[in-house]
Amino acid sequence: MTRNILVTGGAGYVGSHACKVLKTAGYVPVTFDNLATGWRDAVQFGPFEKGDLSDRARLEEVFARWQPAAVMHFAAISLVGDAMRDPGTYWRVNVLGALNLIEAALAAGCKDFVFSSTCATYGDLDGVMLDEDTPQQPLNAYGKSKLAIEQMLGDFGASHALNSVIFRYFNVAGADPAGEIGEFHRPETHLIPLMLDAIDGKRPALTVFGTDYPTRDGTCIRDYVHVMDLAEAHVAGLRWLEAGQGSRLFCLGTGTGFSVREVIDASRAVTNREVPVVFGDRRPGDATSLVCGSERARRELGWQPDRSKIGTMIADAWRWHQTSSYNR
Ligand code: UDP
Repeated sequence: MTRNILVTGGAGYVGSHACKVLKTAGYVPVTFDNLATGWRDAVQFGPFEKGDLSDRARLEEVFARWQPAAVMHFAAISLVGDAMRDPGTYWRVNVLGALNLIEAALAAGCKDFVFSSTCATYGDLDGVMLDEDTPQQPLNAYGKSKLAIEQMLGDFGASHALNSVIFRYFNVAGADPAGEIGEFHRPETHLIPLMLDAIDGKRPALTVFGTDYPTRDGTCIRDYVHVMDLAEAHVAGLRWLEAGQGSRLFCLGTGTGFSVREVIDASRAVTNREVPVVFGDRRPGDATSLVCGSERARRELGWQPDRSKIGTMIADAWRWHQTSSYNR
């Protein structure tokens, strides 16, 4: 029997790749998205239901129509700078949205939930290799809103036997190797797409945010994970729930960080083009070094982030960047 999976945020970057992997695995991904930051062109692998998580009646309609076996929840607003300026919107959209979704799911008898959380729930723990047991002290309303949702899932687990698999991860990179979907944000704030824009002249230059960090070359270090590896982890999380193994938390990182300069060097090698760079001030709120382990995901889910090599991620992003973009 085909299993329908409700994918909130299925028109977004990570959600759309999850839909592709779900379809390949034999599921029907039903995208629920308000298209505020997602793209209709990215919904290629299953039905689309336009809607907003604040609209409980609309959610109930969608649950009744598709009777999903599980929910994969990606839909969120996720820019740290915006969260600092306007925390109320982050609490309202992310936390109330998740509450509506959980209650609508439970009312429809759907008790399996895969949640896309973030390592921004940890706070500024420079130099620590993060894992599932690292204490959480989020620094901004974005991280706090995601932590609140993690806790909410725990509460509904205790009260209503809701089962949740929660994933925490940092920097997502790359694109579908087949080039059907990829990363496209407006406004774009992320390092790799901005760098590719600078390489092919869509922007005058990439600004490197700070060169005086206490790292090997003075620039910030991040753990980059290929979007297809993340999508596969989410499907493995779904299978975990289907097997009745109960609620579980997994960190998804490679355990290896790359500095901004190293990412730039890797791009030069992949594209054979120069990256126009200007060196600027630190960006407020940036941590020095964020690297995350994934021992548990490897051991318990059999997760292998094989595509998460910096050259592969940039090559896949570059291919997508050159050939495709969604209708604007
Ligand atoms: N970065 C940069 N220039 C940019 C965008 C990002 O130097 O135009 C740096 C940023 O300071 C961070 C890293 O690249 O160290 C990754 O930033 P991104 O915004 O992609 O992800 P974040 O780590 O903030 O989630």
